[in-house]
Amino acid sequence: MNEQYDVIIVGAGPAGLTAAIYASRADLKVLIIEAEVNGGKLSKTYEIENYPGIKSISGLELATQLTEHGQKFGAKLISGEVLEIGENEGKKEVRLKNGDVYLSKAVVVATGTKERTLDLPHADEFTGRGISYCAVCDGFFYRNRNIAIIGGGNSALEEALYLASLAAKVTIIVRRDVFRADATVVDKVKANEKIEIITKHLPEELVIENDRIVGLKIRNVESGEVSTVDCAGIFPYIGADPCTSFVDPSILDERGYILANADMSTAIPGIYAAGDCIRKDLRQVVTACNDGAIAANSIAKVLKE
Ligand code: NAP
Repeated sequence: MNEQYDVIIVGAGPAGLTAAIYASRADLKVLIIEAEVNGGKLSKTYEIENYPGIKSISGLELATQLTEHGQKFGAKLISGEVLEIGENEGKKEVRLKNGDVYLSKAVVVATGTKERTLDLPHADEFTGRGISYCAVCDGFFYRNRNIAIIGGGNSALEEALYLASLAAKVTIIVRRDVFRADATVVDKVKANEKIEIITKHLPEELVIENDRIVGLKIRNVESGEVSTVDCAGIFPYIGADPCTSFVDPSILDERGYILANADMSTAIPGIYAAGDCIRKDLRQVVTACNDGAIAANSIAKVLKE
């Protein structure tokens, strides 16, 4: 028989784990399903400085604490990839890639986003050996060497500060002359002597010698002029897309983000959404936690009625 729950939460990042805390404390039977790493993107973040009450904490430490906290009140956490959410006699039927099926009265989709990958010839081939999407995981391999970072958002600039503590030099390549990152982070990056910022340039080509990355050719978006940044490692932080391929397209916007109401419900009864995968203005740990708490509270109210 398929296992039955009150709530199934898809995604064990800050939104999903907070939903688990609130739903379990409301006495609901909760299952959390995570396809990749518990704690979500947090576990790949070097430092969190804007989570209220904690002035500074490593992303991995906060992810670990949240994962424990999410299970503290009885929620069960399993590993698996959700392929589809269907209906079964008034219940939600959650089907996993491994063939397992779970039933629940409500589902919270809290799957976050996945980073965009670098679209250059040979980029896939060199991912993990010259190109990395995780500064905390791979930064150590590039200590005392030169690193190029692509992007001007919070991820690019925050990870640049971390990588600058290891590398000989960090060059940030930004395609406009405007940063998406918060002003405080931009100020810190500009004040760091190990970091150079090159604006109005796009990555053009990997420079490969003896099967190793030794540089990145970049193109000036105005003049078309091509120059080379000498680097052993390239860290692209060029934004992310929502992980919502298994979600009914009727509740997605044109970019794939879930359209959630103020109580985190969607246009499909019983389906709620929380965190970075919903259409919203501010994607932060604190807003993900906020969404998760609201989603669980809304479900608890509906189920108790
Ligand atoms: P982002 O804010 O979307 O920034 C992506 C950056 O990459 C932008 O500078 C963008 O340029 C550039 N870019 C996009 N496509 C490119 C391409 N093909 N080639 C070169 N450059 C390209 O992404 P993010 O930094 O990953 O952040 C995602 C979300 O998480 C944001 O909402 C962010 O605020 C949040 N976040 C918050 C924190 C924090 O508060 N501590 C930390 C990390 C992330 P354009 O500006 O020209 O589009």
